[in-house]
Amino acid sequence: MNQDSTVTPTRTQSDYIGRFAPSPSGPLHFGSLVAALGSYLRARSLGGKWLVRIEDIDPPREVTGAADMILQTLSAYGLNWDGDILYQSQRLDAYQAKIDKLLSQDQAYYCQCTRKQIQAMGGSYDGRCGRLDSPHTHGAIRIRNTAGVERFQDLHMGDVCLDTDFATEDFIIKRSDGLYAYQLAVVMDDAFQGITEVVRGCDLLTPTCRQISLNQQFSYQSPLWLHLPLVCDAPGMKLSKQNHAQAIDTDKPQTSLNAALTFLGQQAVTPQSDIREMLAEAVAQFDLSAIPKQAEIVL
Ligand code: GLU
Repeated sequence: MNQDSTVTPTRTQSDYIGRFAPSPSGPLHFGSLVAALGSYLRARSLGGKWLVRIEDIDPPREVTGAADMILQTLSAYGLNWDGDILYQSQRLDAYQAKIDKLLSQDQAYYCQCTRKQIQAMGGSYDGRCGRLDSPHTHGAIRIRNTAGVERFQDLHMGDVCLDTDFATEDFIIKRSDGLYAYQLAVVMDDAFQGITEVVRGCDLLTPTCRQISLNQQFSYQSPLWLHLPLVCDAPGMKLSKQNHAQAIDTDKPQTSLNAALTFLGQQAVTPQSDIREMLAEAVAQFDLSAIPKQAEIVL
């Protein structure tokens, strides 16, 4: 089933659709609360929809029960989403159909180069498996990156310019272990769900150029991009589930909500027992221009 074919690139500006797309690799921590809250406030302040997608396509990195825990935490913070949750694990047929099509049209190819070989190429893949007279029939799958994008406009961070080698590299869309790459799944699903603007942390600023390339190659209408400062516990060290960042409190969400608002440069709101009233106040006073223009902030 190729659900991808349902994507229709038509929309108007008032049809704002945002999303929060956590990977279920652990419970929500303060850094992911900031990303969820930032995207929620932006969507709701524009009268738009806010969707949640669980990015569960990397089983080795998943923690049992984490997806449910994340959803329960969002609910405890009053971050109510629209419609059904999309689980990427239910989209594997669509990803495979896209890959089959790309392979059949010679827009992607199998690659058997090792990490060591790529290091010897200078760290950036030189496309050699894409030039073989007898192409490989198994291995990782790389896209022929014919639409390499080196710069883009971010609604918050401004003009973002990236390393040319990274931007133009033929990157992996399906790993040699059979798992679909984040870049492929995220682009297909943002299009499938009609996402008009992606709001997330600055850790994903660099991969954005690859996502724009894929959008162009797939003739999808690219969403707009808005990257928020990352919560770090030391310079260059983002809070992350992998680093065992502490799960945020769901019993008394009022304090963390105000801490997340303050992190985003917003005014704290009046503590109330009903968190939804606090959120409504935060939506009403949301000011994009007050968010610090920094890629990371150390707590
Ligand atoms: N699933 C990714 C993560 O949890 C985020 C993907 C995205 O927002 O594009 O880091």
